[in-house]
Amino acid sequence: MYKAWITKAAKQPMVLETVNLGPLGAEDVEVAVDHCGLCHSDISILTNDWGISQYPAILGHEVVGRVTAVGANAKRLQVGQCVGVGWFSASDMHCHQCMSGNHHLCPQAQATIIGHRGGFASHIRAHWAWALPLPEKLNPADAGPLLCGGVTVFAPLTRFVKPTDRVGIIGVGGLGHMAVKFAAAYGCDVTAFTSSESKFEEAKGFGANHVVSSRNSAAIRRLGGSFDLLISTVNVKLDWDGLIGTLAPNGRLHVVGAVLEPIPVAAFSLIQQQRGVSGSPTGSPVAIETMLDFAARHKIAPQTEHFPMSKINEAFARLASGKARYRIVLDADF
Ligand SMILES: [Zn+2]
Ligand SMILES: [Zn+2]
Repeated sequence: MYKAWITKAAKQPMVLETVNLGPLGAEDVEVAVDHCGLCHSDISILTNDWGISQYPAILGHEVVGRVTAVGANAKRLQVGQCVGVGWFSASDMHCHQCMSGNHHLCPQAQATIIGHRGGFASHIRAHWAWALPLPEKLNPADAGPLLCGGVTVFAPLTRFVKPTDRVGIIGVGGLGHMAVKFAAAYGCDVTAFTSSESKFEEAKGFGANHVVSSRNSAAIRRLGGSFDLLISTVNVKLDWDGLIGTLAPNGRLHVVGAVLEPIPVAAFSLIQQQRGVSGSPTGSPVAIETMLDFAARHKIAPQTEHFPMSKINEAFARLASGKARYRIVLDADF
């Protein structure tokens, strides 16, 4: 028997219960959870803001732990190995996307916390390909947020920019502060946009060369035509027209923050400067592995606040308050 923090219905506090995970799948591994990051998507599934939650739910999808069992057909992992599991915990491994290396675009990809038991638990299970070995140089206690938030901002950097490019990171929060660190280590000229002046100095500490208020439309307009890539990590409405205007010719606004209101885009501002608007979710197992290796090499870690997992409901309230600096990690204490 295993223990887990269960969400029984939308917006209900989580309660500790025992769960029966049943027999281990042949391709799966079982991991004893040591730490699990708390991501804004956990709140969205808790509140059913996206309308896709399934209850009872076990949330938590930034898992770091040790392999305790490997299925008969699981590859490359051994009992005792330190691994991480992120937003997805399985994919079908045979569709066009999986065979192309884009497992995170698999139509059958299994979200770790929707219809699957997540990481706010003593143990979690995942397909072996989605349990990524953690480099030894990474501190396991703070690596969790890299597995969802980290790869979500790292993947567009590696897809779209060169080290000589100018990059703007919109929002300095859980995702944004990691994006600033990655873009700075990548060699880009980095501008952070934040609505909170109290974060200006900290953003520079994370590696931003410039910081601009995301509420100051005049300051945004003065940056017209400058950025090769803007990564938006926020879930609120912004001066989208002004921000798209800051893109250089061939520049791209890339959305990774789940803003629910549509983003208005004027065709002419895209056509004349050959600009694009795009989005992406998390990343493939290889993208996650590449990100972990890059983070280890450049000593990139999220700035975290730790709670024991038994204080999970307080931790959710802290994240919802917007005061967390910048990512919360729960340490297993079953
Ligand atoms: Zn997440
Ligand atoms: Zn697939």
